[in-house]
Amino acid sequence: MSQDIIKPGSTIGILGGGQLGKMSAAAAHALGYKTVVWGQSEDEPALQACTYRIVAPFTDASALAEFCNKAQVATTEWENIPVPLLQEMEGRGLLVRPSSKVLAIAQSRRAEKGFARSIGAEPVPHLYIPGPEALQDAEDYSDLFPGILKTDRLGYDGRGQMAISDQSSLIEAVERFAVPCVLEKRMLLDSEYSALVARSACGEMSVSDCVRNVHKDGILSQTSWCQGMLPEVARRDVAGFLHQAAESVALEGILVIEFFVSEGRLYFNELAPRPHNSFHGSIEAARTSQFEQHVRAICNLPLGSVTFRDPFVMRNLIGNTGDLQAHLAQAHVSVHLYGKGESRPGRKMGHVTTIVPCD
Ligand code: ADP
Ligand code: MG
Repeated sequence: MSQDIIKPGSTIGILGGGQLGKMSAAAAHALGYKTVVWGQSEDEPALQACTYRIVAPFTDASALAEFCNKAQVATTEWENIPVPLLQEMEGRGLLVRPSSKVLAIAQSRRAEKGFARSIGAEPVPHLYIPGPEALQDAEDYSDLFPGILKTDRLGYDGRGQMAISDQSSLIEAVERFAVPCVLEKRMLLDSEYSALVARSACGEMSVSDCVRNVHKDGILSQTSWCQGMLPEVARRDVAGFLHQAAESVALEGILVIEFFVSEGRLYFNELAPRPHNSFHGSIEAARTSQFEQHVRAICNLPLGSVTFRDPFVMRNLIGNTGDLQAHLAQAHVSVHLYGKGESRPGRKMGHVTTIVPCD
């Protein structure tokens, strides 16, 4: 059964109502699928763009029954979908792709770092801090100063992070968060990259080109790609880690890994088993967009190729959508507005992709 193709005309269930779900739904519809999106509040973008909509908390039993009834396969567009909910769906016989096990890794920074090691990649130097009491053991954290304290769970777009300069700021931050955390050494970043692997239930695999990311205040600001931009260390190792990652969890779907290059070495930062902001440029610039690749992988269709035909720059519209006329006046530009009602500082409102010669 799990090796069967999920045929066009079937319904893909998407958990989460954000822009990743909206763009995934568009790709699903283009291939002839229907979608059911389960979001938690009326104004979520993907709820504007699906065949069937469910708006309810993820604890709602009748919403669960309705979702399982409609969907032939379920996938997530948001990392913090409760793992027990996915396990319940799996228990009811619904195909969940990627599986609850993969999402469980992505939900914990500690688990991600263990996973990085298991595939032979190097996480940034770090220590796990279960709570304030752990600091009394006089373990020496000073090797990691200056550092960044990150909550083990539920952080995103730089949230759930605090800069640490010394022991007293560490104690204060651990007490303030009051949840398990990971202290990472603050690395001097030469550059940041991400890459995507797709694997289908039949075992076919495809690794993307690597894109280059620039973050501001912990939020992805821009992503670009052009031929020959990768440093040697990334060219050598990234594809192998992606293959290894997909094989080791028997991935069914797509997975993106973020990497740092610091002082010439490659470090594993984190992973996301879903479409990723850094691959939005694939809609215009790649042979197959990440969203179409996601649909192909979870439906066990032949995979495409998330490799780029054209150099591009993708810029996020953060906090507000900016001047639409000015965006549209640029040459070779595609504007995506997510349709979020309310602008807020740090909120991703849309993105603009420009096909450009690289510098
Ligand atoms: P999020 O889950 O919010 O994306 P990340 O851990 O990826 O959190 O951090 C966001 C960004 O902050 C990174 O892409 C990087 O630019 C910066 N950053 C995070 N951790 C470190 C670190 N240990 N050293 C240097 N910069 C970091
Ligand atoms: Mg990140």
